Amino acid sequence: MTNSPYDVVIVGGGVAGTALLYALARFTDLKRVALIEKYAQVAAVNSRATNNSQTIHCGDIETNYSLEKALKVRQSAQLLVRYAEQLPAAQRDQMIHRFPKMVLGVGAEECAFLRHRYEVFKPHFTQMQLLEKSQIAAIEPHVVLVDGRERPEELVALAVLEDYTAINYGVLAQSFVEQAQASDKTVDLKLGNPVQTIEPIGDRYRVTTATETMTARFVVVSAGGHSLLFAHRMGIGLEYSCLPVAGNFYFTPQVLNGKVYTVQNDKLPFAAIHGDPDITVPGKTRFGPTALPLPLLERNNLHTLIDYLEVLKLDQTVAGVLLDLLKVGDIRNYILKNIAFEVPMLNRRLFLRDARKIVPSLQLADLEFAQGIGGVRPQLIDRSQRQLILGQADIDPGNGIRFNITPSPGATTCLGNAEQNLLRIQEYLGCAFDRSWFTADQPLDQPLSVG
Ligand SMILES: Cc1cc2nc3c(=O)[nH]c(=O)nc-3n(C[C@H](O)[C@H](O)[C@H](O)COP(=O)(O)OP(=O)(O)OC[C@H]3O[C@@H](n4cnc5c(N)ncnc54)[C@H](O)[C@@H]3O)c2cc1C
Repeated sequence: MTNSPYDVVIVGGGVAGTALLYALARFTDLKRVALIEKYAQVAAVNSRATNNSQTIHCGDIETNYSLEKALKVRQSAQLLVRYAEQLPAAQRDQMIHRFPKMVLGVGAEECAFLRHRYEVFKPHFTQMQLLEKSQIAAIEPHVVLVDGRERPEELVALAVLEDYTAINYGVLAQSFVEQAQASDKTVDLKLGNPVQTIEPIGDRYRVTTATETMTARFVVVSAGGHSLLFAHRMGIGLEYSCLPVAGNFYFTPQVLNGKVYTVQNDKLPFAAIHGDPDITVPGKTRFGPTALPLPLLERNNLHTLIDYLEVLKLDQTVAGVLLDLLKVGDIRNYILKNIAFEVPMLNRRLFLRDARKIVPSLQLADLEFAQGIGGVRPQLIDRSQRQLILGQADIDPGNGIRFNITPSPGATTCLGNAEQNLLRIQEYLGCAFDRSWFTADQPLDQPLSVG
């Protein structure tokens, strides 16, 4: 057992945990921090490049974001770009990429919706352009043309053509660790070391793994859905349950030059499928994600079924929330469709129908299931409010421990969330926190919290 306590121990080495490690090392006067990750490398779960959509969300092409949410998420997105731009060019170019991006409206109703959204968003998103059919075709010919002729439906798009839009969150997480370790602080990275228990001992916490025990003055648990499991085991956050929603993808030959999102059905809690260049698989376009409720806290890890059952805490309230969701026709149909996406023979045919909204000339033979690709979004259920929480959540009992649960856009907001964690750590430990890097573009009284 180490006698010298850490100032902060972070549990979980995804992009959220590593962003906090970087921020602690770089912007506070704390001297000893540690990050504990159960796998042998950081970003092995949802933050791995293959397991998410690699999008820097700004809210401009995500029509499920209100203007208020879009502006907040964009502030966090700008921090990612600020971070990447301070790196040597070769490192930056491994990490962050410029592609055109657009949200496509198909048919009169969606086009009218996008035209109106353009008026509301344009004053705040000055690079945003409203594209008519022929202008869309100039950027994304396969979205408009079938056998050289324009598809018949009315089309309009909101586009941003010159921006950083894609990022390898795995490379980002690794870079955060390297930058943190380059500081003059003690920054201990403990990989391949699953945390087993966290217990309060006086005004500190004892964190135990299979091989060691350490103490910390503050603990931040950024372990995806497992954050809630740790909280529950400590008797905290019992008002929350969890609905893990897995996302699958399909590859096609390269049919898009950039990111093409579609208009969101606002009754649905999850983003509609989109098409993206995959920055780890050049020459392909990746369509997805699907949204399949799955009883696992981690994709492709059956052991996490037991963890899920523990965190679900199924009772009448949770069952009631799930049943209420199923009572909404659009949600019920959407869930059924996503289950059907898993049925052999049917899956590709059904997915093709959705993907053809983006690229109408796609054929069944073009679609290849992206095996082993995709993660799980740990959506929280608030039992007291009897509702599904669509964004991320922090559980903070105010006594030196925080639990971050970060479904999408939790990778985009990793530095914004790190700032939130630092503010709470500063308050609790009384350490110095130089916030100027985070607030370079905004008034100091606007923290970057994203609901
Ligand atoms: C299909 C899909 C598409 C997405 N697309 C986007 C996107 O385009 N843009 C975006 O911003 N967000 C996207 N997201 C969301 C994004 O992937 C997550 O918000 C983000 O990766 C969360 O990071 P994290 O560090 O909190 O979690 P994770 O990356 O899951 O990291 C949690 C870490 O905790 C570790 N851990 C768990 N238990 C323990 C333990 N007992 N001891 C030690 N370590 C432990 C895990 O091994 C893991 O490394 C998407 C998610 C999905 C599923």
